[in-house]
Amino acid sequence: MGRTDNDTTIQELKELVDTFSKDRNWQRHHNPKNLSMSIVVEAAELMEHYQWERDGQPNQQEVADELSDIIFNCLMFAVGQDIDIASSFKSKYKRLLKKYPVTIFNKDNDSLKDYDRIKKAYRKGTP
Ligand SMILES: [Mg+2]
Repeated sequence: MGRTDNDTTIQELKELVDTFSKDRNWQRHHNPKNLSMSIVVEAAELMEHYQWERDGQPNQQEVADELSDIIFNCLMFAVGQDIDIASSFKSKYKRLLKKYPVTIFNKDNDSLKDYDRIKKAYRKGTP
């Protein structure tokens, strides 16, 4: 603990959440349905900090805690489903580079219409 993003690996975080879960015998609750729902529940808790117009910024520590809850559940999901996060992320990132080319989106007058058009085309399987 006490380390930063610069010197902590995803594998170390996976081992932390796995140990946390095993020490409490919570693996029996950590099926894909429950964990995917927990990811969304925690995301909603993060969204609550930005819901409605409020004066000032949300408490940064509370926001970081909610983000950590999301990541915790994502890591648990990855452990349970034997997903290598780094390779999955990089593979997805490469596809995003193709899906949203800078030739379309790196301009001052880009439009959400471009985003919507590309998203709909991908969903139809015709990028
Ligand atoms: Mg939470």
